[in-house]
Amino acid sequence: MSDEPARDAGYADFLDAVEDETPYYLECSNGHGSLPPRHVCPDCGDSELSETELPEFGTIQAHNVVHVPTPRFQEDTPYATAIVDFGPVSVTGQVRGMEPQAVENGLEVTMDIDRTETDEDRVLVFDVS
Ligand SMILES: [Zn+2]
Repeated sequence: MSDEPARDAGYADFLDAVEDETPYYLECSNGHGSLPPRHVCPDCGDSELSETELPEFGTIQAHNVVHVPTPRFQEDTPYATAIVDFGPVSVTGQVRGMEPQAVENGLEVTMDIDRTETDEDRVLVFDVS
């Protein structure tokens, strides 16, 4: 038994799936996409959610360079966070593999899991393809 709250356990499952290179999103019967963990569709309230494979490539929609991080990412700064459009869903994570200042909207990226420099916790990252 885990004493983690359910929503954290669900997010850990999502990180596991990304780490196994089988990331997925939840699709309701009306075709809305959302990221796990969800029990109902955030758009229409449908509870018929099925796990659907996430596209391999996404596009950076918005990004931000972080100089003053939360304690969890203290050793990682500066870094860029981005919201990436994967079609039905948008995913937030850190951009790796390039200078944070060089990150641009419209770049194509893939999703991966890395460890923070601060505490080696798992973090969702984007690699520029
Ligand atoms: Zn829906």
